[in-house]
Amino acid sequence: MTYNGLIFDIKRFAVHDGPGIRTTVFMKGCPLRCWWCHNPEGILPKNEIMFLEYKCMRCRTCAGVCPAGAIFFENERGFPRIERSLCIGCGICADACPTNAMRLVGRVINVDELIKELERDVLFYDKSGGGVTFSGGEPLSQPHFLKEALKKCKEHGFHTALDTSGFAPRDVFEEIMEYVDYFLFDLKLAGEEEHKKYTGVSNGPIKENLRVLDEKGRGKDVLLRLPVVPGITDTDENVKGLVEFASSLKDIRQIELLPFHDVSEKYARLSREYKMLDYSAPPPATMKRIKEAFEKIGFSVKA
Ligand code: SF4
Ligand code: SF4
Repeated sequence: MTYNGLIFDIKRFAVHDGPGIRTTVFMKGCPLRCWWCHNPEGILPKNEIMFLEYKCMRCRTCAGVCPAGAIFFENERGFPRIERSLCIGCGICADACPTNAMRLVGRVINVDELIKELERDVLFYDKSGGGVTFSGGEPLSQPHFLKEALKKCKEHGFHTALDTSGFAPRDVFEEIMEYVDYFLFDLKLAGEEEHKKYTGVSNGPIKENLRVLDEKGRGKDVLLRLPVVPGITDTDENVKGLVEFASSLKDIRQIELLPFHDVSEKYARLSREYKMLDYSAPPPATMKRIKEAFEKIGFSVKA
């Protein structure tokens, strides 16, 4: 028996998702709703259509083939509008579109098929000390597929990494942890209320899983990752709270600071609201302040 997973991309030759040259598998579906999420196409656990206006030649082919009657031409500019509540994610419009302006985001793949794709890059893993990274979306939201895929990766001798928000039941996290060599673990907001407001979920399970990883994950590499979002995660109060929490960890001593950047275009392509229109990248002084705060407690900081 092999499990099916829903993914939205497989990126080869990735160099920012763990050590060496890697293949990153982007899994679809995430229980969090971070305002600044830079992979909005990974949030919903179902197929979606992305519409790229600059490619569209306004031929109306898509509306003619849509079995759900979800595509309308009603604006003066002549571009299609997808009524998301009607779209069933069949991808027929994407197949029919002559310019690839409609793109289906989401693909079902089983573990054996995935491993076959990953095997194509073995040479690069071996030469560079790389491997396979599972990212998303939140990979832990598809635990059966993820566990089997990680297990098979290990059987094939691939180094494995997990890019995660850490939000999952503890038993699921512990089971999966066993098959992961390297963790990219998000740390966002120290306060419970702020965490709920800006991500939609409690930070309780995240903190608990990070402690489990710190205590039971000896020998595993862990890189914390803090998205630096002006006015949200970069405040003195939040940095103080995160530093306090981080300093209570026993073994984990690495963090990467990820400056906020605008991804409004991606949201527009999915007809999704983007709450960060008025936000801009943090200034160098902010990055320096946060870097120094973590260095003071003995962290090595990538910024
Ligand atoms: S994915 Fe299917 S239902 Fe959705 S807009 Fe395209 S053709 Fe219509
Ligand atoms: S089929 Fe493609 S190019 Fe033609 S109107 Fe639809 S999205 Fe635009």
